[in-house]
Amino acid sequence: MDNSLKTFEAGEHNGTGRSWWQGLKRGFRRKCPNCGTGKILHKYTKVKDHCPDCALDLSGHRADDMPPYITMSISGKIVIVLALEMKRHLDPPLGVMFLIWAPVIIGLTLWLLPRVKGAIIGFQWAHKMHGFSDTPDEDLEASLKSPL
Ligand SMILES: [Zn+2]
Repeated sequence: MDNSLKTFEAGEHNGTGRSWWQGLKRGFRRKCPNCGTGKILHKYTKVKDHCPDCALDLSGHRADDMPPYITMSISGKIVIVLALEMKRHLDPPLGVMFLIWAPVIIGLTLWLLPRVKGAIIGFQWAHKMHGFSDTPDEDLEASLKSPL
């Protein structure tokens, strides 16, 4: 009977040798998913071409519209639930609700957006997606062979 316990970090089973959980966490902190120390964003959500610490090429990421979509989904669900609970229990006037929740949702969205973008870049890096694959032209070749 084999009593050895295998320990692995979440995501190591994805066959890339990179942990998606670690990439997600490092990206959420707006750090390089590879080394965890270099800042990957500048000018709020602009992605640097390379990690300043380990020189990982970040130019191939394809976060596109996913960060705003996920950010709106998260902040919207949080604020809607809290606002509805406030309305149900305290029933403040609509103007008061607006004065409270408008800054909250704007602030939460602005805080989350760069972090979600970093997390998506970390996820793409962990799965060797897009420009993070070992063979950079792999995606291009696959798209050329595909009928659609
Ligand atoms: Zn790095």
